[in-house]
This record gives sequence, structure tokens and C-alpha cells, in this order.
Amino acid sequence: MKLKGKRALITGAARGIGRGIAEVFADEGADVAVNDVENMSQAEEVVQSIRSKGMRAIAVKGDVAKRADVEPMIDKVWKELGPIDILVNNAGIETIVPFLELSDEQWTRLVDVNLRGAWLCSQVFCRRALAEGRKGNIVNIGSIQAAKVLPGRTHYAPAKLAIEALTRNMSAEVTPQGIRVNCIHPGLIDTPMTAWVMKDADVLPMVLAQISLGRAGEPREIGNVAAFLASEEASYLTGQSIFVDGGWQGK
Ligand code: NDP
Repeated sequence: MKLKGKRALITGAARGIGRGIAEVFADEGADVAVNDVENMSQAEEVVQSIRSKGMRAIAVKGDVAKRADVEPMIDKVWKELGPIDILVNNAGIETIVPFLELSDEQWTRLVDVNLRGAWLCSQVFCRRALAEGRKGNIVNIGSIQAAKVLPGRTHYAPAKLAIEALTRNMSAEVTPQGIRVNCIHPGLIDTPMTAWVMKDADVLPMVLAQISLGRAGEPREIGNVAAFLASEEASYLTGQSIFVDGGWQGK
């Protein structure tokens, strides 16, 4: 029970890695707010699953890229679940478009969700927590693509590498006031985002050959590391980015 008595908001948690983090956090004793943008029936399923473990949970709809959504969303969690102790910036989108074909709109939407969303949710959370004299914890979800080149990711990869700089810079500003900030760079994790890789008989073996553990990760394996980072066990860890990738980055 690493997170007993804590309250967490996890963005993009209706499925995939966000759901895995939500499930592990509940198993570790946290109450959880499950954010998503469209997929609210799946978010409600995650809420029911967490309640069945005996923890409190609510679903909160909102686009992490829009201040007009994020401010009321964080307010709602504060009112209905209580003050947030842990924010996990997990919501993200991936599109694959060759550099020469990428449009302004594709660049802007992806960077808005994947980078600005993490900055925005963190700012709204930190302002509120610090105004109330509370401590806190942020875990950002980056990507293996902060370190590896894959085709068609001239928007996705820079946004994910920037999450590392965001983590360091936010940590420098808010850790002195009691909010630790760290980042996980997942490798290939089996989720709806990567379903096409997992099903592709040509691509999958090529990717797995680059991973020392020789397999994709499960969402809960990211959840376990997020729970550690958000817990007192990581009390001297801040501003760091950790690759949780089965050994892909180092190979
Ligand atoms: P999924 O696509 O399976 O799930 C992402 C979730 O985020 C969806 O429920 C989606 O909701 C939600 N979401 C998307 N945009 C927004 C938004 N603007 N506001 C709120 N929620 C939103 O992805 P994964 O679980 O695989 O990925 C989670 C994170 O991990 C992402 O940041 C991704 O970039 C990162 N990552 C994933 C890897 C992998 O191998 N799976 C590897 C490295 C990094 P909806 O369906 O309603 O749009």
C-alpha cells in the first residue's frame, strides 16, 4: 500500500497505460479520478473496477489541451474526491505522418495534447496545491521516442523529448515547495495505441528483436513504476526521466 490515503488524477485513463496506472494506484491504496476526453463509457468501467477494489473513484471528462476544460476538471476532483496529491500526465495521441506531408494542424494538435496538455494540467494542479499549502507529486509519461527515431514522428518524438525538459524545469521550480516531478519513458506497451504493431506479423518481430526482454510491456508495468515514483519510496527522486522499455533504449 505505497499510496494509502492519497488521491490521484490520471489523464487519458479510460484505457491503455492510463488504465494500468489507475488500477495499480487503486491496488496501492489511492482514490483515483479517471480523466478522458471522449471515451467516458470506458472511463466509467475503470471507475467501477476501482470501486470494486474498495477505493473511491470518479470519472472526469476534459481535453487536457484546453484550459477551459482543465480548470473545471481539477476543481471537480478537488470538490468530489478531495485535494489531489498525485497528477499523472498520461493522455497522449500518436499519428504517423511523413515529415514532408505533415500539416500545421497535425503538428499543432499533437503538440497541444502531448506537451502543452502536460504543462497545463501541471500548472493548474500546482497553483491550487501550493495556494493551499499542500505538497504533491507529478508523473509525466514521455516515450522511448525521446531517444529512438521511428519513421513519421517529427511531431511526436520532439514533443515526447520535450516532456523530459518539462519535467526537469518544473521540478526545479516546484520541488523546493514540496512537489516532486518525474517522467517515465515507456517502450512498446500493449495498448490500443500500439494494437497495429502487435498485430503486424512483419513489424512486431523487428521491434521485439531490439528489446532485450524480447516482449512488449503491459500497462501495469508502467503503473508499478509510476506508483513507486509517486510514493515516499522515491522521496529523493525528482526531475528524472526513466526508460521503462524492457531494455530497448539501451540496445
Ligand atoms: P491509448 O491511445 O491506448 O490511450 C490514450 C488515452 O488518452 C485514450 O483513452 C484517449 O482518449 C486519451 N486521450 C487522448 N487525447 C486526450 C486529451 N486531449 N485529453 C484527455 N484524454 C485524452 O494510448 P496508450 O495508453 O498507449 O498511451 C498512453 C500514453 O503513453 C501516451 O502519452 C503515449 O504517447 C504514451 N506512450 C505509449 C506507448 C505505447 O507503447 N503504448 C509507448 C510510449 C509512450 P480517447 O480514446 O477518448 O481519445
